[in-house]
Amino acid sequence: MSIFTRGARSSDTPELRTSRVQADIRRANEVWRTGISPGVSCGINFVLLSEFYRPEITIDAGTVTDGVGDSRIDNLIRETRTQVNNATAIYLVYLSGEFFSDGLSVGNAGPSFENFFNNTNYTIIGRAALSDGAFETYLLAHEVGHVLFGRFLNDSVESFTVNDPSNPGDAHNNNPQNIMFPSVPAMNPFLNSLQCNVASQSRVILENAASTAGFSEMADAGAVAGSGFAGNGNQFRSAEDDESFDQIESSNSCGCSEGHHHHHNHNHNNPNVVRKLNKLIDCLIIEMGPDKLEIFPKPPEKKKKSSKKKKKDCS
Ligand SMILES: [Zn+2]
Repeated sequence: MSIFTRGARSSDTPELRTSRVQADIRRANEVWRTGISPGVSCGINFVLLSEFYRPEITIDAGTVTDGVGDSRIDNLIRETRTQVNNATAIYLVYLSGEFFSDGLSVGNAGPSFENFFNNTNYTIIGRAALSDGAFETYLLAHEVGHVLFGRFLNDSVESFTVNDPSNPGDAHNNNPQNIMFPSVPAMNPFLNSLQCNVASQSRVILENAASTAGFSEMADAGAVAGSGFAGNGNQFRSAEDDESFDQIESSNSCGCSEGHHHHHNHNHNNPNVVRKLNKLIDCLIIEMGPDKLEIFPKPPEKKKKSSKKKKKDCS
């Protein structure tokens, strides 16, 4: 789903909007479906399901400090979800303004829990935001990685991560040509097999593929699009607190420490866990920081690990 806000680049006409998002999706598919040497051909296909224009809403990226955790972006995505039967998809918001509040970054993304039954049965959607500076870049291709890498590493609720599976402990990759390099490559970004394998198992992909089965053109796991699939058993039942998360909540300012491992295998949706996992994700997203573009000409060997600089102590 794409959502254009007022003033975002290419927001003025339906043709411009469609053209911008389709170009972003085409580049995402270059990376995730076809593949670019020396990477793998992963076969993940993104399609546009619906496009929304919200001329009454202006969100200047320059005022966004928490990326997709920004309440205006979050609310916009929530409103959009109600219009599309809570489709499992990646919700992409186009913001006005060249950069996010740091004056450098042009994109941000992460998953968000909709329900949680247990570590193998839950629903997440994708949230992504791009500023004008992301125009005609591989930023969307990069941001979908931050969504599709969202997963549990083991049967602990606290093991949820968005880390790059080929670079444990880090949301980003160290290879400057990898699509998940923190400064997104301008040309020929590639995807490695570990990244492909994990992304292919994302609940966003699996649920999207399942719900679109029968719609031939979308059956191959589209995601920026989504499904039109009604969120079935999404009725929130009140459930007892998950104790392990109650402990976590007071463990640090981020509310996202690891370490307490008493996992309950709930067979019903647990809104408390959903709420706390989303707090954890917001923390991980802030720690990860928003994404920049590769700079031309390349700056002299000043390779700072930008992903590390904003340590917000999530672990
Ligand atoms: Zn990134």
